[in-house]
Amino acid sequence: MINDRKYYENLEQKNFKPYAVISKFSKGRKFAEEADQYRTVFQRDRDRIVHSKAFRRLKYKTQVFVIFEGDHYRTRLSHTLEVAQIARHIARMLGINEDLVESISLAHDLGHTPFGHAGEEQLDDLLQDAGGFEHNLQSKRIVELLENKYPDFPGLNLSQEVLDGLMKHFTPFDHPANTLEKDIVHPSLEAQVVNLADQLAYVNHDLDDGIASGILNMDELVTEVDLWREAQISNEHQYKNFNAEQIRFLNVRYLINLMVLEAVHYSTKRIKDLNIKTLQDVYSSDERIVDYSAGFKKRVIDLQTFLYSRFYNDYRVLRMSIKGKRFIKDLFDQFNTNPELMPKTDFQKIENGENQKRVIADYISQMTDNFVVEEHKRIFEIEKEAMN
Ligand code: MG
Repeated sequence: MINDRKYYENLEQKNFKPYAVISKFSKGRKFAEEADQYRTVFQRDRDRIVHSKAFRRLKYKTQVFVIFEGDHYRTRLSHTLEVAQIARHIARMLGINEDLVESISLAHDLGHTPFGHAGEEQLDDLLQDAGGFEHNLQSKRIVELLENKYPDFPGLNLSQEVLDGLMKHFTPFDHPANTLEKDIVHPSLEAQVVNLADQLAYVNHDLDDGIASGILNMDELVTEVDLWREAQISNEHQYKNFNAEQIRFLNVRYLINLMVLEAVHYSTKRIKDLNIKTLQDVYSSDERIVDYSAGFKKRVIDLQTFLYSRFYNDYRVLRMSIKGKRFIKDLFDQFNTNPELMPKTDFQKIENGENQKRVIADYISQMTDNFVVEEHKRIFEIEKEAMN
């Protein structure tokens, strides 16, 4: 007997906690489709996301470092995979839907622009009179509209639970004063896990990349960040001989483990204290359920504050952000004056009456860092040979 969809659906009902999202009872897709014989609705969503163009482009998009600054730093793709790994691990421990968590994780950053948050800020500035630009909304726009491969519907036609998960995805770093905060209501535990795992992943990999790049200093971390100090003391106790690269790795590993366990233990306590018994209880709860305790959260915030002042605001990181912004603005202005410089299909959209700035933002936001640099050259530089 082959393990088919029904087999997995039964497993879910048998093994998951009663407050988990169950694929069999999914709210469904916008365009009705026949169920797959072998995969649950969320497994199928995951496959659609991995096979999308936007997913492949994550490989060449900035997390903090621009991809040509070094090939061992995180990109959006490796960040996304780390989020998925951490979120699935937490989901398994909590007894909730790992496939749904994986799908939301893999799609959560699809809407990111080239050059990371710098690119997003720039497009948002340029679109002030056209509704602004926000990467979570853009992720949704990609999976609902811009991916164009199925004859029967636009986008990927993902399940409502994955779409909801994308919309519930807001971190303080994503948008400190986002007006959309008010939309954060009643996300599934699966969506909440991805939210926490996203922050958990980037704090730790930014530490790792920050040290590897020489911008962050481990001695300073030991004196100034108490979570790092705890990790250092524990590892010095456990290991006698290690080099700088190993202690960096060991400390980051320690912190990931610690944060995962803190989240799992405290979230389990929250579920109990808030008397969460069913999925409906989750949907109707006004409280954030997947979380750290107040005391632990303060320690994580101290670490993040350190990263803001010493890493994200370091002149070497800022310098590249500023360059990225300028390149994006240059391209945007050119396309806005001469929309016929865009690919025919995009130009056509404007001819058909779509908002010009939105079409340009869709086009630019889907570009990789590489493509921006190449396109900038094509538009602004004159090659000598070409003049002959
Ligand atoms: Mg992310």
